[in-house]
Amino acid sequence: MANYFSSNFTLGILGGGQLGKMLLYETRKFDIKTHVLDPSAEAPCRIACDLFQQGALMDFDTVYQFGKKVDLLTFEIEGVNVEALEKLESEGKKVYPSPKTLRTIQDKGLQKQFYQKHQIPTAPFQIFEHKALLLQALKDGVIALPFVWKSCTGGYDGRGVSIIRSKEDLTPLPQGPCIAEEMVPFKNELAVIVARNPSGEVKTYPVVEMEFHPVANQVEYVICPARIANDVAEKARQVAQKVSQSFEHVGLLAVELFQTELDDLLVNEVAPRPHNSGHFSIEASYTNQFEQHLRAILNLPLGKTASKVAGIMVNLVGEEGYSGEVVYQNIEKIMAMEGVTPHIYGKKETRPFRKMGHVTIIDEAVSRARKTAEIVKKTIRVISK
Ligand code: ADP
Repeated sequence: MANYFSSNFTLGILGGGQLGKMLLYETRKFDIKTHVLDPSAEAPCRIACDLFQQGALMDFDTVYQFGKKVDLLTFEIEGVNVEALEKLESEGKKVYPSPKTLRTIQDKGLQKQFYQKHQIPTAPFQIFEHKALLLQALKDGVIALPFVWKSCTGGYDGRGVSIIRSKEDLTPLPQGPCIAEEMVPFKNELAVIVARNPSGEVKTYPVVEMEFHPVANQVEYVICPARIANDVAEKARQVAQKVSQSFEHVGLLAVELFQTELDDLLVNEVAPRPHNSGHFSIEASYTNQFEQHLRAILNLPLGKTASKVAGIMVNLVGEEGYSGEVVYQNIEKIMAMEGVTPHIYGKKETRPFRKMGHVTIIDEAVSRARKTAEIVKKTIRVISK
């Protein structure tokens, strides 16, 4: 086995955002050397890696040359040049998660077909090469209103998703390939993080629950453990594990699921990397998701995924109406509360809805953590000077 620790082994990370930054806490812990590539000179990762390179993640040559210089390549963002990763892999470079998986996940149509092929439960859907074909299908009664429109590529944080209630709702949407998916009457959105290493060792984290703001329809709290029945939680972990195994995935896979009114579980989508829904693990778990991702891609034994305490995560996003140099108003007030830890990503400028940080609340009792989380949410404000 390669010696990763205090050695010349170099891990390359594509993307230098907050996920990369939190991954670097763990490479520092293990004293593993890192190179990071990101288009922004101000990327959160710039201060904690051994070598920071500014460059375009979608550019073949930039990614290929960057990859040549490292021993193992991983990514913290899906928007990277897959052809370059495939070439590196064909030349014997280790790339985890695999470019093949990334290619499937980057396209929502391919991703859905993958679930179908592997008998993984997911909402019924149809794929359309372009918008005109979708409009025709609607006219012909092949698909019925309402449905969920999803762009096959480029969607992120809900931007490539639109609920279509009338034909007019399609007007502002782009022409490109898309899927039309049945609306799922869900009572909960859940997520399970699965870790798998090249030897095939697999571990799942406890199920988390996304609690939405009743009006704004934005995720307000990620709650671990999810407040659901044990058998549903067990089933969710099994489905997630099946997804990871079907991909023969290496690294972390975050599996997002809908829990329907009838307690069926449908896979919505996956992310092949550490994920927002796993941030609670830094404070609440025996092994946090970033350490686990390293263990998985380096083929080390996986760490224990159980929680030590209940954890709730609140995203810190830029408040509407504020742009410019960021101020975390009342941060000292939330830090005075027990079990509350803010994470500041290191972005100098705030913009409305930009992810600037998150706060974790831990407590022995999830109900008490939930109460504290609400106070945290009302107290801290991400504004500008
Ligand atoms: P993104 O990749 O942008 O995160 P998602 O596929 O996760 O997009 O969709 C964003 C949100 O839209 C989901 O979290 C869910 O609330 C809603 N949504 C997505 N698909 C469906 C569906 N089939 N039925 C009902 N709501 C859906």
